[in-house]
This record gives sequence, C-alpha cells and structure tokens, in this order.
Amino acid sequence: MALILIVEDERDLNNLLRAQLESEGHEVAQAFDGATALRAVEARPPDLIILDWMLPGKDGLTVCRQVRQSHLMPIMMLTARGEEVDRVLGLEVGADDYLTKPFGMREALARVRALLRRVAFDAQVGGTGVLSLGALRLNPTDHTVSIADEPLDLTPREFDVLALLMAHPGRAFSRDYLVERVWGLQSDGDDRLIDSHIMRLRKKLGDVGDRIVTVWGVGYRLTA
Ligand code: CA
Repeated sequence: MALILIVEDERDLNNLLRAQLESEGHEVAQAFDGATALRAVEARPPDLIILDWMLPGKDGLTVCRQVRQSHLMPIMMLTARGEEVDRVLGLEVGADDYLTKPFGMREALARVRALLRRVAFDAQVGGTGVLSLGALRLNPTDHTVSIADEPLDLTPREFDVLALLMAHPGRAFSRDYLVERVWGLQSDGDDRLIDSHIMRLRKKLGDVGDRIVTVWGVGYRLTA
C-alpha cells in the first residue's frame, strides 16, 4: 500500500479523501497549504500526491512545479475550473492527472489506483536496460535521458512515452494504447492529453524529436 499526501485547504474534503484512502489500506499525510506540502514532500516523499489547484499562499501549480524539480511521484491535481487551458497548463508543469470538482469518491479512488498501477509499470520498464538511438540514451533504472551526454529534463510522463517508443523502434502506437499504458487510464477519446506530451517531448529532444513521427489516423512511432 502507498503513502499518499493530500494537499487541500478545504478541511472537510481533505478529511473525506483521507478516510476513503485509509479504508483502502493506504497511509495518508495531510497538508492544508502549499508551503507545508512542500516541506512534507521533502521530509518524507509520498508515493502519490493529490494536489488542489487553489490553495492559500503558494498555489497548486507552483507546488507542482517545485515538486517536479526533484521528484517523480504521480501528482493528481484537483480543480474547480474545467477549462482546457488549465488542464494543459497543469500537464505542462508535470501533473499526471486531473479531477474536476465536484467529483465522486469512487472516481477519485479509481484514478488513484490507476496512477499507482502506473508506478508499477515504471518499475517494469526499469528492467529493460539502457536504450539508445543515435546520440540519444535513456536509462530506465535511474530515469535519466541524455543526448550526446547532455542530460535532458523530462517530466515522468514524457519519460514513459519516450521509453515505450524507444523500446519498440518502428512500431506505431495508438494514442489510446499510449494513454492506457502510460497513464493507466481508459482513453476517453481526448487525444490532446497525449498530443500535448508528444509536442513537448519533440521540442525537448531537438533534432532527435523529428524521429517521433505522426502515423496518420493511428498515433505515433519512432523511426529507427
Ligand atoms: Ca482549495
């Protein structure tokens, strides 16, 4: 079972989530503002963070960005806003999933399970050894990527997508498959989740990024 940090200033909601997660056998830590959350993460890194967007002091986006500077655990953001722009913004700073308020507890628990399954998947990919393509090298064991020995800074999901593509060069992956394997979610038909990650990944990879090609009507593949 996992250690889960809940960062939410609405005490009732924070406590409700805590009770639900504890009843599933998880250990729960709570924070009610961003600064306390960051201290908690450093003191004892959780396996997963549930992070509210609107917090007093440092907001959820700032907390997410700061956590991502040194941690890879999944982060699920809670937001009362549903606009696409926020979702994309959150994904860009490294959130893994989104839950729009108000949400049902069953939905929240299902998302948590999916994210934790994905952590198990990371551990699986970790057994494949160092992958390389030209000057690009990816090490699943220590989660590092470099081009000509220059380290690249990828978000955990960008890393997972790249690891899958590099493990199977030439093979086309559908967006649904990538979402399911990497995020552990059933695809809801919204291609923007995967497309925004691929776009960022390509940009970060520079010239090598051109090797990730769009397969029309399917998804993506890496040309060898
Ligand atoms: Ca709030």
